Amino acid sequence: MNKEYAIMDAEQSILHTYNRFQVVFDHGKGVYLYDTDGKEYLDFAAGIAVSAFGYQNVEYGEALKTQADKLLHISNLYYNEPIIKAAKRVLKASQMDRVFFTNSGTEAIEGAIKAAKKYAYTRDGHAGHEIIAMNHSFHGRSLGALAVTGNEHYREPFGPLMPGVKFAEFNQLDSVKALINERTCAIILETVQGEGGIYPATNEFLEGVRALCDEHDILLILDEIQCGMGRCGAMFAWQNYAVKPDIMTTAKALGCGVPVGAFLMTEHVAEKSLAPGDHGTTYGGNPLVGAAVDKVLEMMERDDITGHVKAITPYFEQKLDELVASYDFLTERRGVGLMQGLVCKKSVAEIAAKALQQGLIVITAGSDVLRFVPPLIIEKEHIDEMAEKLNAVLCDIDKI
Ligand SMILES: *Cc1c(COP(=O)(O)O)cnc(C)c1O
Repeated sequence: MNKEYAIMDAEQSILHTYNRFQVVFDHGKGVYLYDTDGKEYLDFAAGIAVSAFGYQNVEYGEALKTQADKLLHISNLYYNEPIIKAAKRVLKASQMDRVFFTNSGTEAIEGAIKAAKKYAYTRDGHAGHEIIAMNHSFHGRSLGALAVTGNEHYREPFGPLMPGVKFAEFNQLDSVKALINERTCAIILETVQGEGGIYPATNEFLEGVRALCDEHDILLILDEIQCGMGRCGAMFAWQNYAVKPDIMTTAKALGCGVPVGAFLMTEHVAEKSLAPGDHGTTYGGNPLVGAAVDKVLEMMERDDITGHVKAITPYFEQKLDELVASYDFLTERRGVGLMQGLVCKKSVAEIAAKALQQGLIVITAGSDVLRFVPPLIIEKEHIDEMAEKLNAVLCDIDKI
């Protein structure tokens, strides 16, 4: 299909909720994507932190094909083996005790909110509890997740949203403390803020929030949808800190391309939380996604993906730091592991668009951050190629 016609067709049929890059992708291999004209692109976005193993991973593909031929779906009225295996693996990786599989990140957040509210309801015998969320957070687009997303621009047209949500400043413990009252049932935050601009939680902040939660019997919900699944050098980013959440969410790289998410909790929460009749999903945790999650976690563990991320990160950071040192309009690098951002005083949208023309895929975060969330399997040669291509783009931008 001719690219211009394809884009025109898309814009006439698909609801315009994205300003898309002008490219139609056809297939991928390794850490490269190819468009319908056969042009090659080095992918440092991984479908927004999803494709941890890149594209056309044979072992993963075979696992999906085998399951697709066997059984796709049966509903949650029955048991299926792939999701039981997947559940065991995700509990081991996350140190949690109970899991509920969803179809997306935003649904995982919905479930986490419901679990926290039900816990407080069981404990107190009444509803009406409050949640503290963070400014510049992103938790998803469904109405509950939107209600805890700290971006006024995303929320405004859709009010009134779920009541009882207050926003604190990320990495400012006093601002959280000031919002706690006897109705507070949960504090929700991303261990590393993603869409908001790649802000890692400081040790002091996360440990402080954990202590506040313990003191007041408040549940700590950590959103690991973007920063989890090995990306930050631990299976889940919170494992880099001396804290453990009561409830956590995952999605994105959990299935490496099939739509799946999950919310998980400790036994202590599960005992007082969602019971039969409280929550459900038709597709969630079906045999196909079960096979995907089982295989992804098997491969991550066997191939020591977190070891690879930890080993390659210093080189990645060094190359990004060199760019920051070379251009005045790049002011800072922020991030953990293979979740990095460059703060930029020129249009990041323009840089990402020019990079695409150069055959490099990068995305943006917030209003002024270039975001790098590559497949976790990248090697030094890919980092070199990224730095070279990006340098050419930045050099052009510098002249404007
Ligand atoms: C992407 C994302 C979500 C939403 O996930 P969807 O699968 O798009 O619904 C929630 N929280 C964080 C931190 C995310 O990065």
